[in-house]
Amino acid sequence: MTNNLKEILDFNKEFVKNKEYEKYNTTKYPDKKIAIVACMDTRLTELLPKALNLRNGDAKFIKNAGGVVVHPFGSAMRSLLICIYQFDISEIFIIGHYDCGVSNINTNSIIEKMVKRGIDKNTLDIISNSGIEVKKWLHGFDCVKDSVLGSVQKVKNHPLVPKDVIVHGLIIDPETGKVDVVVDGFKQNNTEESC
Ligand SMILES: [Zn+2]
Repeated sequence: MTNNLKEILDFNKEFVKNKEYEKYNTTKYPDKKIAIVACMDTRLTELLPKALNLRNGDAKFIKNAGGVVVHPFGSAMRSLLICIYQFDISEIFIIGHYDCGVSNINTNSIIEKMVKRGIDKNTLDIISNSGIEVKKWLHGFDCVKDSVLGSVQKVKNHPLVPKDVIVHGLIIDPETGKVDVVVDGFKQNNTEESC
């Protein structure tokens, strides 16, 4: 197994010694007053900010599996509220992407893998009996457009989000970086037909 920690620490020592951080210096307040919710997909790590011309200091990035605002009082929504009230964010971009590994996810196979990796079936039963639907919770989405629309609506209609915050919905191509607009937050009437 590669020792990534060692590689990272060796590199880091040189990075700091050579003051390579200097070109990234900025503040914690995003210059463009933008927050982005996007997928953790590795193809987007550099491609997404480059394709959108976002540099260090421009935007807050909130990443998770699928780039979804799953729950109105979950982690992504909490981060967005902090962005709005603590970091003066005025525009939010929900960015899904084509060919997402979270779409059409087979939750049965994930549960099987958990059991194979030593998770006791009783544990799964206890969680289930506590009212937590693990499969539903792990399930991503069947259609990225619906997912983006759903997250945009969740943010726009959130009781703690002020009405002057603009919420856009986009889908990015993980190969070319081309962006399609699902919801233009500045327009009143978006054609929000689903898949
Ligand atoms: Zn994805």
